[in-house]
Amino acid sequence: MGYFRENIEKLAGYEPGFQPKAADVVKLNTNENPYPPSPEVVKAVAAMSAEGLRRYPDPTADAFREAAGQLHGLGPEFIMCCNGGDDLLTIAFRAFCDENRAVAYPVPTYSLYAVLAKLQNCRAIEIAFDAEYNLPPKLVGTAATLTIVCNPNAPSGTFISAGELACLADELSGVLLIDEAYVDFADDNCAGLVKEFDNVIVLRSMSKGYSLAGIRFGYAMANPALIDGLMKVKDSYNVDAVAIAAATAAISDQAYFRDNVERVKKDRKTLIANLESLKFKVMDSSSNFLLARCVNGNAGEVYNSLAERNIYVRYFNLPGLNDKVRITVGTSEQNEKLISALKEIVS
Ligand SMILES: *Cc1c(COP(=O)(O)O)cnc(C)c1O
Repeated sequence: MGYFRENIEKLAGYEPGFQPKAADVVKLNTNENPYPPSPEVVKAVAAMSAEGLRRYPDPTADAFREAAGQLHGLGPEFIMCCNGGDDLLTIAFRAFCDENRAVAYPVPTYSLYAVLAKLQNCRAIEIAFDAEYNLPPKLVGTAATLTIVCNPNAPSGTFISAGELACLADELSGVLLIDEAYVDFADDNCAGLVKEFDNVIVLRSMSKGYSLAGIRFGYAMANPALIDGLMKVKDSYNVDAVAIAAATAAISDQAYFRDNVERVKKDRKTLIANLESLKFKVMDSSSNFLLARCVNGNAGEVYNSLAERNIYVRYFNLPGLNDKVRITVGTSEQNEKLISALKEIVS
């Protein structure tokens, strides 16, 4: 017998997107924000004192909870901070799932959910989206103790209305976790549901909208009873002092944040039009990336030809996705480089 639990022994771990070492590449493969974080973030990090590093951080990061609470019109007791949104996903699986308590989610979606289910040794009920990525009615009635809806969904970029998710929350007997990692680029969100429903958790990430993928910070919004339970499961010091300072500065600079998001949304429109003029079929996107079907379905070749030119996009060699590439919306300059490379490649 090996040293590991059987499910770990068998597990093919989560595969993160390629992180090229060189800086001078066009990196449109892991959905980072192309713009730097707010100057206030850099100031806050530079202002960290030796004493602030010597001591343990605030275990609940109350400075951030206050700031986020103000933004969402919620008391801090509705918020829990995490070491990236991924930390919240791990906490939720540990809190709600085991051999007898299943997770359910529509697919294709964020591939980490399946990996976490295997780690936790719980059954994963995967329900296929239709071609338009509508909310699958079969999500109701799975009896899963945890249901996850990624909204906007990855890798499709599609969006399900808050009204539909409210109906789903109402019908489920278990917890509904809405993964809003990309919601900053959408026109609506589900933050309001956490006051209305005692079984809804909304996940937010500082990695995309706030340009802070490098520091690892995210948060949960939920009814205080759910937050209290989740707090029991998290590591006591799950967010570090530097991250708390950076994330609090970022969320407090809403003007800077909104400007960046608007720029990405505007460039998304241009990029869609340019891809369509090259005969790519592009899903309607509420996120900072696009899922684009290549004319001949030869997405693997398109991926390789771009990589040869130091332009990185994401390619999933999976059923339903292997004819498409996922492209992060970059700066206008990066998007133009991508489009001129694609012009060469498809001609
Ligand atoms: C990026 C992302 C997250 C969380 O990412 P963190 O960097 O850990 O905050 C969660 N869900 C999806 C679908 C994501 O793309």
